[in-house]
Amino acid sequence: MKNCITLILHWYQEHKRELPWRKDIDPYHIWISEIMLQQTRIEAVIDYYNRFMERVPDIKSLSEISEDELLKLWEGLGYYSRARNLKKAAIHIMEKYDGIFPNHYEDILSLPGIGEYTAGAISSICFQLPHASIDGNVMRVYSRIHNLDIDVRDLKVKKDIKKKIEEILPKESGDFNQGIMELGEVLCLPNGVPKCNECPLKYHCLAHLNGCETLIPRKTSKKEKLEEEYTLFLMKCGKKYALHKREDGLLKNMWEFPNQKGFLTYDEVIEIIPGIQKIELGITNTHIFTHKKWFMNSYYLETNHELSEYQWYTLEEIQESHALPTAFRPFFEYLQKK
Ligand code: SF4
Repeated sequence: MKNCITLILHWYQEHKRELPWRKDIDPYHIWISEIMLQQTRIEAVIDYYNRFMERVPDIKSLSEISEDELLKLWEGLGYYSRARNLKKAAIHIMEKYDGIFPNHYEDILSLPGIGEYTAGAISSICFQLPHASIDGNVMRVYSRIHNLDIDVRDLKVKKDIKKKIEEILPKESGDFNQGIMELGEVLCLPNGVPKCNECPLKYHCLAHLNGCETLIPRKTSKKEKLEEEYTLFLMKCGKKYALHKREDGLLKNMWEFPNQKGFLTYDEVIEIIPGIQKIELGITNTHIFTHKKWFMNSYYLETNHELSEYQWYTLEEIQESHALPTAFRPFFEYLQKK
């Protein structure tokens, strides 16, 4: 691995992508981008990041923004607890560190929503501290360089790799962390054939030299996702539509269209919802979360009064100030077109 460090640093200097959060090493910029990048592709994050920075340019403004507006800015990125944790962490930084982002690894790690990966990224990129940030890309590159038949989902393996990399980290720890990660993303591909011919490590990488790069790391079968069925009620009264805040479970405190578990028939819907004047079948949608899969049917309903257990808004009001999770967006778009 030691032989590869300089090669990775040079490759990164020549090939690193121009990204808005790479214009400087301001920890606020790196922090927001790292949280947005979790589970989301770089290309998809750029617009969100720019929009976010325009409205919430610093820690103080993040600590003061209303939750509704914050979630609206986050709408579509998913994992809304991340946005809430950003605000919690910003308040904590204002109170405990006078609004200055902490520059010690343990302090960074103690902030809400920041785990070892993000703490490693921020502390190495912004403060050149000797910490590794280990994600799937790093695990893959590392295991191929050493031709290790490992299970990348094993947390102990991850810990071992972190420790080994930290023993040899160069003083440019931030560039190294970003370099190895980016090399994993663009050359040492997870699916399909890695681009070894273009890789600066091709003469050192044991998996490549042994011709087994596609077999390393070991692929473990993914856990089956839990499947759930829902019926959504797309209710209209006059010009307003019914929304509801989820009380618990997945997407807690997020806006949703009223719904019930299971696929309901016409008769069951008529029995549940009072005052229906019109009912027709709406669209269906399937949404995949990390551990769950939702199958959703819907009914379009017109009612003769606004049922008091829901809140009622026009489509414009929903669009402007209510963050609807991606799972429900197709139903909103269906209502817009209707
Ligand atoms: S030589 Fe191939 S397998 Fe090895 S690190 Fe480079 S891209 Fe990955």
